[in-house]
Amino acid sequence: MKFDPAREIQEFLTFGEFGDVNASICDSSTYTFLSVARMEEVFEHEIEGCFLYSRHWNPTNKALAGALARMEGGESAQVMASGMAAITTTLMQLCSAGDEIVSSRTIYGGTYALLANLLPRFGIRTRFVDISDHAAVAAAIGPNTKVVYCESMSNPLLEVADIPKLAALAHAAGAKLVVDNTFSPLILSPLRLGADVVVHSLTKFINGTSDCVAGCVVSSAAFINALGDINAGPSMLFGPVLDSIRAASILKNLHSLPVRMSKHSANATYLASRFAERGLRVHNPGLPAHPHHALLESMMNPGFGHGGVVTMDARDKKTAGRLMQRMQEEKVGYLAVSLGYFKTLFSAPSHSTSSEIPVEDREKMGMGDGLIRFSVGLDSDMAQTWATIARVLDEVGL
Ligand code: PLP
Repeated sequence: MKFDPAREIQEFLTFGEFGDVNASICDSSTYTFLSVARMEEVFEHEIEGCFLYSRHWNPTNKALAGALARMEGGESAQVMASGMAAITTTLMQLCSAGDEIVSSRTIYGGTYALLANLLPRFGIRTRFVDISDHAAVAAAIGPNTKVVYCESMSNPLLEVADIPKLAALAHAAGAKLVVDNTFSPLILSPLRLGADVVVHSLTKFINGTSDCVAGCVVSSAAFINALGDINAGPSMLFGPVLDSIRAASILKNLHSLPVRMSKHSANATYLASRFAERGLRVHNPGLPAHPHHALLESMMNPGFGHGGVVTMDARDKKTAGRLMQRMQEEKVGYLAVSLGYFKTLFSAPSHSTSSEIPVEDREKMGMGDGLIRFSVGLDSDMAQTWATIARVLDEVGL
């Protein structure tokens, strides 16, 4: 049977302590044992259903991790306090001093800063490449490369990574392919396309209510166990634990993700088509004219569309600023960073989420000063929303 990530979520049943339909919130940092011998046993190796200390594992976090592992078609998962924690712990597990990472140059600004500025302090160097130029990726991979890193759909330009091809290039060199799937949950299943590790910022579409920051790593059971190893595991020792109250609320929101994702995608592609008809420069992989439309269609799971993000070039910083200000006044959505909220969010990546990337690199990527990223909301009548946006576009001369 074909893999259906929505069915995987649907069939993931958790029972709370009293047969509750939602996972119980385990509100404890530590757990009691009936005997000293049992405590020693649990300290030495993980025993199903036994818990020791919540930085290691918490039953509520385990329920969320189990659902996310199934959604991604992975063996196991670990949930974390942020998307950055998921990325950082993954890279610290895979790389040591002297190792190299080959990374897409179009990635979230925080990840770029981690790779460009912080990891070199620990002797880990990154070569940034155009991830759709496979010859450049192959040329950048060297004997010390341990990781090829990319976003399934890049932030903010929405380039789609050819995951099977990148996995083949990484594996030929003995490296791992790590994919940040934050922009395309359900739409793409990178592990099933050859990736070794998937990371998410749960803060975005997966949670969908912009009320918390969280992340996850999905991979083999061996990799997840290594992350949490009590002697040397980065998630155990850096300690970015997700609070169990948050894990319980994210798990509830996860169950509406399939419905939300298809609506976000339909609204985004509708908006992108209207921008394109108006002659504006627009990026959205749902448009047949997008250079990676066919590639995305060859890899994606059906039923969730092409993603909820649209990037539009408003020509210059000043026009972009006026447009965003007026859209907020006209209640199109909020001038705010982040993604996946039920209302539309818009921001200028060059001056916010991608400002960590040097100007020359932003220019090479085609990320101009007037670019606006829209995380398109769940509006029930997108034609009505478009009528408002079109009026504001007229006002600012676009
Ligand atoms: N990955 C992507 C693609 C993102 O857009 C972000 C945040 O904007 C992150 C990772 C970092 O996630 P968090 O803010 O949850 O740490």
